[in-house]
Amino acid sequence: MIEQIRLRELLREPQYRAWFAKVPTITVMHHSPPWRLYVQKVEGGRWARADIRGYPEAYTAVKSRLSECHDMTIHCRPQAFRPPAVELSGKRSYLPCPDGHEWCVYCRRPTVFGYFSSHPAMPHKTVADYELRCGICAARFAGMKRYKPKFSWEALRAASSAS
Ligand SMILES: [Zn+2]
Repeated sequence: MIEQIRLRELLREPQYRAWFAKVPTITVMHHSPPWRLYVQKVEGGRWARADIRGYPEAYTAVKSRLSECHDMTIHCRPQAFRPPAVELSGKRSYLPCPDGHEWCVYCRRPTVFGYFSSHPAMPHKTVADYELRCGICAARFAGMKRYKPKFSWEALRAASSAS
């Protein structure tokens, strides 16, 4: 099992951080609060969640708890998001994911996908264990659009920590 990169580590990447700080536009119809804040207080622990109407509110909650909680995400329930465009040495690409990670279009970040026979995000449901799912939100990998990056996450990080 690959250890999932934490949100605080993802936010050390300046281009991801800038995108994460911007209020996303939701264009699809929704009636319930669109944002779901997932918080994992301790490594390997349960993911708590809270549904939030406004992105700024979710963002503020993340900011204030980033250092005390193991991992977090601001998940969008009704709408899929493609990865942000990032640049490295003049080359533009979709944000690459660290090794063993995939972009979850609903969690809006790279996550580790896996096979589950029960999933913490779907506590009272039977889960088909042959389907690859996001480890945080349980969304099916098969239903997601793929985005091919032009360089690796490691290359991007090496460049931004050098500058
Ligand atoms: Zn997800």
